[in-house]
Amino acid sequence: MGICSANTMTQHKLTIVHDLATLYPSLRLTESDSFYWSPESQTVHYNPNELQTDEGCWAIIHESGHALLGHATYRSDFELLQLEVAAWEKAKEIATKLQKERVDGIRHMGKPNERAHSSPPTTHHLPPTLSIDEDHVQDCLDSYRDWLHRRSLCPNCSLGSIQVSPDTYSCIFCDHSWHVSSNRFCRPYRTSNS
Ligand SMILES: [Zn+2]
Ligand SMILES: [Zn+2]
Repeated sequence: MGICSANTMTQHKLTIVHDLATLYPSLRLTESDSFYWSPESQTVHYNPNELQTDEGCWAIIHESGHALLGHATYRSDFELLQLEVAAWEKAKEIATKLQKERVDGIRHMGKPNERAHSSPPTTHHLPPTLSIDEDHVQDCLDSYRDWLHRRSLCPNCSLGSIQVSPDTYSCIFCDHSWHVSSNRFCRPYRTSNS
């Protein structure tokens, strides 16, 4: 049996969603084109096509962190950044629990003599490492800081500005004010141009 058959990939994808739902029955998880937590609908959105990568698994765990911490509103970008840090801390805790559940699950799975008669062990029975890479966390927080910084620059004069409300900035140099989105916890990518 091929290690990377389509079937194995599908199992990997479903495993993390299934495990999260089992461990945290209150979580509402739904497929989407990207990863984010929506406080309005109390739903974690995830892209199923990215769940076979470490980054995809970490993303769904991170968004679940926002959900379990009940993150809803923030008054400023600075506060949003603090919530991001908190969500990553929670994500590390969730990852540890998921990892433990998987190891326990495998330990209790089947009797040894039964397993000897079955097909040779395949890699998808081994727990994929869920521990979240600290470099990845810092990278995500950096891209968040970059994104917040970029959107805080005045579109008129490119100078600094002050945030007057969660969704409004005002330029102290030219009096221009503009709106930014504040309706969800999105996951900015370094490559995005918004
Ligand atoms: Zn987040
Ligand atoms: Zn300006």
